[in-house]
Amino acid sequence: MIKNKTEELIKKDRQYLWHHMAPYSEKSAPTIAVEGKGSWITDINGQKYLDAMSGLWCVNVGYGREELAQAAYDQLKTLPYFPLSQSHLPAIQLAEKLNEWLEGDYVIFFSNSGSEANETAFKIVRQYHQQNGEASRYKFISRYRAYHGNTMGSLAATGQAVRKFNYEPLAPGFIHVSPPDSYRRPAGQSVKEFNLQCALEIEKTIIWEGKETIGAVIMEPAITGGGVLVPDPIYMEKVQEICQKYGVLLIIDEVICGFGRTGKKFGHMHFNIKPDIVTMAKGLTSGYLPLSATAVRRDLYEKFKSSEEYGYFRHVNTFGGNPAACALALKNLEIYEKENLIERSRYLGERLREEMKDIEDHPFVGDIRSFGFLMGIELVEDKETKKPLDVSKVDQIIAWCKSNGLIIGKNGATVAGYNNILTLSPPLSSTEEDLEFIVRTLKNEMYKIV
Ligand code: PMP
Repeated sequence: MIKNKTEELIKKDRQYLWHHMAPYSEKSAPTIAVEGKGSWITDINGQKYLDAMSGLWCVNVGYGREELAQAAYDQLKTLPYFPLSQSHLPAIQLAEKLNEWLEGDYVIFFSNSGSEANETAFKIVRQYHQQNGEASRYKFISRYRAYHGNTMGSLAATGQAVRKFNYEPLAPGFIHVSPPDSYRRPAGQSVKEFNLQCALEIEKTIIWEGKETIGAVIMEPAITGGGVLVPDPIYMEKVQEICQKYGVLLIIDEVICGFGRTGKKFGHMHFNIKPDIVTMAKGLTSGYLPLSATAVRRDLYEKFKSSEEYGYFRHVNTFGGNPAACALALKNLEIYEKENLIERSRYLGERLREEMKDIEDHPFVGDIRSFGFLMGIELVEDKETKKPLDVSKVDQIIAWCKSNGLIIGKNGATVAGYNNILTLSPPLSSTEEDLEFIVRTLKNEMYKIV
């Protein structure tokens, strides 16, 4: 009976549903999830999986939180919708709360997705400079390997060519520089020297492009989807110094690194920097409803209030800041605080790092990188040459993990052949048993590969 039902669903799935990022396949059936609790999801066949990617790096508080469903339900009954060209209570309360979490003075613009949060940031930057009489500052600098979204601007900011080829030309005005990939730094250079050099590449680019043409630099605190590249603090601090020197704004994309993932409220808080703009999504609602935010330093916002020529930010988003999504996000932030999930992320991250330490001796493990409860394991064929492990072997490990109930990710930079990084980003609410299951299963499956 169950088998028939499953087959029928898969047939309909193939007929009607266009999957994200997955080629159509007759051979492999998608996992059809039906429910989730804590770090685990259950599929249509009753098979359970520990979701060590928190969906797409977002279900930070874990699945099955009734209080989140309740918060959305209550708000939907009271007021399901009102545009933010006016206002509503959950948006006001959430904006105030986010300002508190950011530990700075920011004004919040709500959208629905990380891509839109970044698009919003780009438009704010361009208008800000125009209003300052510097319309020539229309360009953005971002890094190769970074992902910033799927829309024409945020995809242009993305530094992963394989995601872009089929859709070009994208929005003009985006320039890329090298990421601080310390694992592949030139021989003889220290991590600090290399990171400093990468930051100085931004200064060189600003100068070569014409320093009056650069509007902003956008970067994640650590490149996540591009293979978990965690910078030395000197890098971020130098980047901020360079931005300030040339009047360039600094946008920090916290879509993955925000909301405790890295062991602090926001990833940039590991460094001595104060971003001009912070974008966030995913962990804001733990993925329960779509919501994103662009936080803008108050003094930048003030310029929009006082400009007679432009008057205001001509940008509207029908669903951005939906009342139910905001009410749910507020409850979600309450959960982080009540359950100390930021500290827990730090603790679980340290435990994971400790437990995975001996895998460094694995013949294919080139590098293990972590940032809070986020880990990337770079697999190579040869530890000397650092040649990336063949992707079929990487996929094999992932498939074996899955057949043993563990979902992990694969990231990197396909076009350069670096599609060889196993990624873990489990819910911050994971239990000790969850952690042990992740470590045990992953190690078992990794040691099977030859
Ligand atoms: N920025 C980063 C760093 C991301 O990882 C993502 C999504 N993975 C985005 C932006 C885009 O977010 P969304 O998919 O919600 O548009």
